[in-house]
Amino acid sequence: MVRATVDDPVSDAPFQGGAGESGQWLVEALDPEQRQAVLAPVGPVCVLAGAGTGKTRAITHRIGHLVASGAVPSGQVLAVTFTTRAAGELRGRLRTLGADGVQARTFHAAALRQLGYFWPRIAGAALPRLVESKIALVGRAASRARLAPSRTELRDLTAEIEWAKATLLTPEQYPAAATAAGRETTHPPEVIARLYTAYEQAKREAGVLDFDDLLLLTAAVIEEHGWVAEELRSRYRHFVVDEYQDVNPLQQRLLDAWLGERDSICVVGDANQTIYSFTGASPRYLLDFPRRFPEAHVVRIVRDYRSTPQVVGLANRLVARVGTAGTRGTPGGSSAPGAQGTHGVAGAVLAAARHEPPRLVAQRPDGPAPTFTEFDSEPEEAAATARRIRALLGAGVPASEIAVLYRVNAQSEAYETAIAAAGIPYLVRGGERFFERPEVAEAVQLLRAAARSADTDRPVGLVAEVTEVFAALGWRGGDPPNGSGAQRERWENLAALVRLAEALVAADPGATLDHFVADLADRAVHQHIPTVEGVTLASLHAAKGLEWDAVFLVGLAEGTLPIIHAQTPAQIEEERRLLYVGVTRARERLALSWALARHEGGRRSRRPSRFLDGLAPRSASSAGRPAGGPAHPGVDGAGALRSRGRAAVRCRVCERPLVGQAARAGRCDGCPANIDQALFERLRAWRSARAREQSAPAFVVFTDATLMAIAEHRPTSVAELVGIPGIGQAKLDRYGEDVLALVDGREPSG
Ligand code: ATP
Ligand code: MG
Repeated sequence: MVRATVDDPVSDAPFQGGAGESGQWLVEALDPEQRQAVLAPVGPVCVLAGAGTGKTRAITHRIGHLVASGAVPSGQVLAVTFTTRAAGELRGRLRTLGADGVQARTFHAAALRQLGYFWPRIAGAALPRLVESKIALVGRAASRARLAPSRTELRDLTAEIEWAKATLLTPEQYPAAATAAGRETTHPPEVIARLYTAYEQAKREAGVLDFDDLLLLTAAVIEEHGWVAEELRSRYRHFVVDEYQDVNPLQQRLLDAWLGERDSICVVGDANQTIYSFTGASPRYLLDFPRRFPEAHVVRIVRDYRSTPQVVGLANRLVARVGTAGTRGTPGGSSAPGAQGTHGVAGAVLAAARHEPPRLVAQRPDGPAPTFTEFDSEPEEAAATARRIRALLGAGVPASEIAVLYRVNAQSEAYETAIAAAGIPYLVRGGERFFERPEVAEAVQLLRAAARSADTDRPVGLVAEVTEVFAALGWRGGDPPNGSGAQRERWENLAALVRLAEALVAADPGATLDHFVADLADRAVHQHIPTVEGVTLASLHAAKGLEWDAVFLVGLAEGTLPIIHAQTPAQIEEERRLLYVGVTRARERLALSWALARHEGGRRSRRPSRFLDGLAPRSASSAGRPAGGPAHPGVDGAGALRSRGRAAVRCRVCERPLVGQAARAGRCDGCPANIDQALFERLRAWRSARAREQSAPAFVVFTDATLMAIAEHRPTSVAELVGIPGIGQAKLDRYGEDVLALVDGREPSG
């Protein structure tokens, strides 16, 4: 039975589920470890487990079971997570388990509701307006503080103020804390502290609050007003937090305020999926939970239900390398636990990896091997991805079961263009505001009007009523219009609403238009969008907690993943965890790809992400653009792609096969030159002497580049000498012996 959730944060939500139901079926659908989490008595519970092990499933079943068995009234449960999408996912799953009276919200949504309720009684006025984005106010504060940051600096400064607030630092405390945490900032910490003060002042003057204030104020109100604490705590008695590895100190403070001295709290998380530590989040709360609550039931799950053994194997290999990405080319480079402002994220994750069984054990049957593909340019990568998606659709994979995931939102454009050109419907996760789309808003309005009208001539059944209303908007069921333009998008959005009505009827055959309208209103409030039939384009951050049959991880090149500004070992590790999150989103098919140049015909100077070192099959890390045969292998190709079959010249630093200029130089562009400086100096001195003898300029003997290549290669034979660019037969005859002697540390006889 689906009903709108209760709006009043302190009144009792309707009790759903029924004390008579034992909820036994909720337990039967689980494995022994998940059952432990579900059946642990009311009190502290902590589930520490890797991706796809059913953590979210375990907590929703735990709530469902507590409610169905009558142990806990649904209205007393507050489940929190971090994104509206994840909160929607939680609500959806709870609903199907008969626990729809449970509040499942983001921290912000929960705080907004509570503060909006209590504030007028505390301050005698409505809650001040919330500013959606800080950046304009920070800009104003910056000019007041006589700073003129560039756009990117302003963005970084805003992020820094956000970090300070998320970690509960005042402007006075900021400089010392930022230094201790090794924050890399555009301005000196003292200047940022001044800006932070000016920002707070600008905000006060404008009479607005930011999102961090919302959490802080809610916590403060509970801490300072006994009656607020009492009212709230009598309302919410049981707390559940999903993705707890990404909680920040500010959110933790609010959680503590909600909890008070009680201990009915269930947290689940995976330290290897910590991807927000640079905004102040820290997995230490998750990992320290058993210390904080020594009587806690701690459950560890290793069975992975989401992905095939092939995908799980790749995820395991990736996790096994945590802490080894310090410096490119130095395997095992340090990742300095506790360094660089992560609250010891790297250390915590390493510790977790030591204590937790590090490997996931796949439960699903075998599937295709993940593919690794290198492309000449980004547009080629995007076009090939679109073609592969086409092939999948042709093979019967639904569009909503396919995702393209990237590191930064700016990457989405190339894929939107390519996918639209291929006539494939898609939706961009994160950018969408489904319920604000004109056709959706109009449809909801018409449905509301139809629900109110006393028209007795309506068709029978909710779905028929909905399709009739949509007919007034020109929508017809059946096949979608061709292409992927605006018309197709409109059709798909309305079709998604029809599917919602169908799902509602499936769950509750007696559901009426009133129920549907209430459900839509609830979804709109929570931005819980229905599944639109289209390929998902999303950033790796936005993909957390979600899953698809086929996942394309694109743009896996150095500078993009890890992102160019990730410099410290801790930052690099966070980037690796992002890839781990990406890999573990795939149920069956996983395609990893990268491009060597940004534009078609551009310089192919990029390198595959360092995280793929040792993960990609050897032949795939070659210049493995598909050659011959089918131009673009499907995601279900046999793993590595064929290389072009050229005789491979390998980089002497990283051993990657080389082509073109890089092959001539014997080293990738990006690899550090390893020049023997002393030899280089000796070669230069020798060259000057020979040039003087010939009364010729030095470069006539050898150019600097050739000398550098010699000092780098240190050739020990004639064969090696001729491999060096700039040394032909004439120079070999003339100077070969001298050079070999110099390399050998002897005096040249000439
Ligand atoms: P993430 O870390 O990515 O958030 P998770 O640990 O929360 O993952 P879930 O999303 O709960 O994992 O589960 C992953 C998938 O495995 C889901 O499709 C879920 O329905 C399925 N699943 C989980 N547990 C079981 C089980 N015991 N039997 C069958 N399927 C299961
Ligand atoms: Mg989950």
